[in-house]
Amino acid sequence: MRKQKAYIHHIYFEISTFLIEKCFPPSHKLRKLFNKNNLKLSYSCSPNIKQIIDGHNKTILSQNMPPQEKTPPKPCNCREPDKCPLKGQCLAKEVVYQATVTTAESSETYVGLTATEFKTRWRNHQMSFKHESKKNDTELSKHLWQLKDEKKDFAISWKILAKAKSYSNLTKRCNLCNTEKFYILYKPDMATLNKRNELVSTCRHKRKFLLKFNRILNNQS
Ligand SMILES: [Zn+2]
Ligand SMILES: [Zn+2]
Repeated sequence: MRKQKAYIHHIYFEISTFLIEKCFPPSHKLRKLFNKNNLKLSYSCSPNIKQIIDGHNKTILSQNMPPQEKTPPKPCNCREPDKCPLKGQCLAKEVVYQATVTTAESSETYVGLTATEFKTRWRNHQMSFKHESKKNDTELSKHLWQLKDEKKDFAISWKILAKAKSYSNLTKRCNLCNTEKFYILYKPDMATLNKRNELVSTCRHKRKFLLKFNRILNNQS
């Protein structure tokens, strides 16, 4: 393989020298400016099979995506903007967020993620704080129910820590899950309520994407 590469490089060098000599022979008035010492020719290759298939997949997938909206989507749809849980950013998608629970004596933090609108995730959190049957949904809800049992007053505030793309079949990685794990692993003081076993959870965005992909194929057949 290395020999082949060296050979191709040699041929390429010979051809480019030949072309430069032909276009700018010693008698040419621009010879001083354009000669093999200061000119470099480059070449391009035809795409290989992988690139052709990737390109084809990208085209098919983009056909099934909803058309891009011309006006940027609204960042918040709260009826009372003052009460927006995320200071006017509640419709943000693909975010890693942090909840801070403060009592008179303590302050605990929880890191979570959502691929869809933050507000939907936030509503699910609210449900888990309200209904005892959902008390074990997350480490955050467990903590709040404990505070409730101890009859302690508390306040929760929310903020976005990072934005990251969730899994796509083109990138083959989930930056959203990776970013959440990064905070739990390397910034434990920002995620005091999160448990270490959350680090081994698998990406649920991949599975969802594959199901969607199946539906696209079924619709086409
Ligand atoms: Zn809002
Ligand atoms: Zn993921």
